[in-house]
Amino acid sequence: MGLGRRSLLGGLAGLSLSSTVRAADAPFWPGGARAAVSLSYDDGLESHIAQAGPALSARGFRGTFFLTLENMQDHVADWRAMATSGHELCNHTIHHFCGLPKTAPKSYFTREVLEAQSRFETLFGAQPKLFAYPCGATDLGEGTPNEQLRRYHTYLQTEGFVGARTSDGPPMSPAYARRHRFALNASAPTYERNTTDEAFEYLDMAQNLGRWAILVFHGLGPQRRESGDTTNAVHDAILDRIEGGPFWCAPIGEVLRHIDAPAKAQARRLTQPGTSIATRAA
Ligand SMILES: [Zn+2]
Repeated sequence: MGLGRRSLLGGLAGLSLSSTVRAADAPFWPGGARAAVSLSYDDGLESHIAQAGPALSARGFRGTFFLTLENMQDHVADWRAMATSGHELCNHTIHHFCGLPKTAPKSYFTREVLEAQSRFETLFGAQPKLFAYPCGATDLGEGTPNEQLRRYHTYLQTEGFVGARTSDGPPMSPAYARRHRFALNASAPTYERNTTDEAFEYLDMAQNLGRWAILVFHGLGPQRRESGDTTNAVHDAILDRIEGGPFWCAPIGEVLRHIDAPAKAQARRLTQPGTSIATRAA
């Protein structure tokens, strides 16, 4: 399904390498990894079960699958098996509307997002409460783009969601991701062209800057049948690049929990009775 995405290269062009390196980012990731990467798959397609699942398992990777209820409901048993394998199954609405209503936005949110969440929780039990915007569309309700975006974020946050993924923007520092958790950057590097070029460039950038890269894929298969598809050969090559590099590969919800951990630990220390600034500093 279509993506409303800015050009990746355009998004990267404004990034100054030297000014954005954070010394603290490099040792931040588990296992001495230089950067983090999450693999996400949109729309609840059959090829995610048949192709993506085995390709990830072969490398010991776990992915984040954003399901559209309409697409996945004939394959509930297969998706349950994916959840049992450790993959995250998250919310991409019921019908994947790309044109959002200008009126009654709360009603849309209730029918498409909350209803999907309720159905997924019934089917799969507890999963990270994550969302991916269909088509990257965030223009929910009336007002300026900022007001629309803020409305969507507020609805998600109020309902206990922990994050939401867009489909563009450069790899993120942990601090950026913590602040912008309802507009997480990501790249769909094979959407326009079925090559490894954009993916490798994006991964290189994450590696060089010690950042978190989220990749987005749609249909997979032996051949590219339509725009957005990725061939298994290209998908495998991207996974091999990740396996061979100094990456911590983990699902989105798991990376967010890791990013949140220092702040939560600090908050616990600050609320412990009897602690003082001096003892905390020690
Ligand atoms: Zn989608």
